[in-house]
Amino acid sequence: MVDIVVMRAISSDNEAHAKEVRKALDRNKVAGLNLISSPGSGKTTLLVKTIQDNPGLKFGVIEGDVYTSRDAERIEKTGAPSVQLNTEGSCHLTASMIETVLPKLDLTKLDYLMVENIGNLICPSAFSLGVHKRVVLLSTAEGSDKVLKYPQAFNTADVVLITKMDIADVVDFDVKIVEDDLKAVNPKIEPWRVSAVTGEGLDRWYDWLKGLHA
Ligand code: MG
Ligand code: ZN
Repeated sequence: MVDIVVMRAISSDNEAHAKEVRKALDRNKVAGLNLISSPGSGKTTLLVKTIQDNPGLKFGVIEGDVYTSRDAERIEKTGAPSVQLNTEGSCHLTASMIETVLPKLDLTKLDYLMVENIGNLICPSAFSLGVHKRVVLLSTAEGSDKVLKYPQAFNTADVVLITKMDIADVVDFDVKIVEDDLKAVNPKIEPWRVSAVTGEGLDRWYDWLKGLHA
């Protein structure tokens, strides 16, 4: 059974809650990641694939969704512990939500806490969750123009993954535009191309993940 917690966003000191989350993660040597993207860009698919391909790494997952526990059910099938966080209308996760559901995961048994944020490229990037890294996904199906349309999502990213590279040609996706736009908003990084279907680029993603624990 998927553990479901329903929480609405309440205004509070987000940074104070983020500090508490970070303390709990650091105390247990857990690397925390905040996954941000539009709906349908493949966050859950990438998580499932990442968990399945790396049996030696211990992942725990917080699945943020406005409604339903469908994504947490997909994670649960991998055997990784997961919690579904339903925001009932709120379009982003807050640090207070993470702090509240964190005790449902046994951090002493985890290497990574993967937080799948609510699917949108606007407000999730405005709220720190207390985790260590921010990963932004952009699928080829969404088109090449999103970086400049949602710069705040991309300029705070530690890693940008272009997902669904296997269908890039079919949907006429231009990687060069994303690379150039990202140079303008976040020159420290370049986008990594991945496909959960063909496996393209996943080794680099996995190596980066492992590096967070080195
Ligand atoms: Mg999902
Ligand atoms: Zn929001």
